[in-house]
Amino acid sequence: MVQRLTARAVVVGDRAGTVVPDAVVDVDDGLIRWVGPAADAPEAPGAEVTALPGVLVPGMVNTHAHSPMVLFRGQGEGLPLDRWLREVMWPREARLTPEDVEVAMTAASAEMLRHGVTTSVEMYFHPERIAAALRATGGRAVVANPLIGLPGFGTFDEQLATAVRLSADSDAQVEYGIGPHSAYTVPLPVLTRAAEAAREHDLLLTVHVAETTGEGADLLATHGLSVPQLLASHDVLGGRVLGAHCVHMDDGDLELWREYDVAVAHCPGSNTKLASGTARLRDMLDLGIRVGMGTDGPASNDNLDLFEDLRLAAQLARLRERDATALTAPEAFWLATGAAADAIGRPDLGQLVAGRRADLVHVDTDDIAFVPVGDVTDLLTHLVWSVGSRHVRDTWVAGRRVVADGVSTTVDEAALRADVQTRAMRLAGR
Ligand SMILES: [Zn+2]
Repeated sequence: MVQRLTARAVVVGDRAGTVVPDAVVDVDDGLIRWVGPAADAPEAPGAEVTALPGVLVPGMVNTHAHSPMVLFRGQGEGLPLDRWLREVMWPREARLTPEDVEVAMTAASAEMLRHGVTTSVEMYFHPERIAAALRATGGRAVVANPLIGLPGFGTFDEQLATAVRLSADSDAQVEYGIGPHSAYTVPLPVLTRAAEAAREHDLLLTVHVAETTGEGADLLATHGLSVPQLLASHDVLGGRVLGAHCVHMDDGDLELWREYDVAVAHCPGSNTKLASGTARLRDMLDLGIRVGMGTDGPASNDNLDLFEDLRLAAQLARLRERDATALTAPEAFWLATGAAADAIGRPDLGQLVAGRRADLVHVDTDDIAFVPVGDVTDLLTHLVWSVGSRHVRDTWVAGRRVVADGVSTTVDEAALRADVQTRAMRLAGR
């Protein structure tokens, strides 16, 4: 049966920043069937009509996350990176169980849905448990099986075989991918084989690239090539490749990204908190490189709130270029919606247009943060600059309402919160 949503306006999530006032969205069988002004809406006898007072925007796409790391949020604050890893992260991760990952992912997925994020790209241990968490909350993800040399997680080839085996179970809600951690932690021949497998099975391959200056310097000293050059020379680029961070890229590196159509997961929250640097966002967009917003893991952001990251992206791009027009509000919002879907190779997501999946977010405009509105496009300006995830009221994934009036309809968030607290203390050895 057709479900009809009416709203004060629809923000499409395209690059131009299209806003449709007094809008109708028809949903059927998990897909958007029609979007447009109410005056032009087709007859829909028998449709179940829901009148929403606010604006409908696309479910946001978080292109880079390690969401189960909500278990480590805020831990080791103020430590330098090497001590944070040795004293805080690695001892905790060594005690991590598959059940910890599932509980943490369930809590994190509920948090993202409440923040208007309906899809995330995940790179973390126990991908089947991450998938189980998503089946519970109703969220969507691309779950990249990590390739990383840690005791207890098998050889690189076993990890790659697992990724390919899991991909046979991919569907529209949970798609599996391959997540080699980085060029400085994974041997180059393994990266080559992972990329071959990704191309053969049309999987998303996501890898950390040029996040800090140090990682590039070491590889440059050994091979005489930058990380992007190294990846190109080892046949890693091509296909659905998504580089996370890509902060320290010279002109030649960006040219390689353009040539091979490599996408970028831009994570300004993490990059500022960890003092990694400021990515060349304007240059990437001008070259036609696909870019989408990411939060990175909640131990290095520390949240899963794309509203904050898209605003930070606009602020940093403007500061970097010393130009208040360096990234427009429509572009910033597009980077978390339509552009982010393109960056992960999912043209079925990210925009409110007919034929795409019905992942929708209702934002409450009955708030001083949405005043004044002269032209209808002011709604989009306010979404970027003055409004936040606190204004998200309802969220649908594939037409199913998973957040109603700010509360998850699928899982018990209070119980999950208590469970994450208990598990986090056990992992900390307390
Ligand atoms: Zn990461």
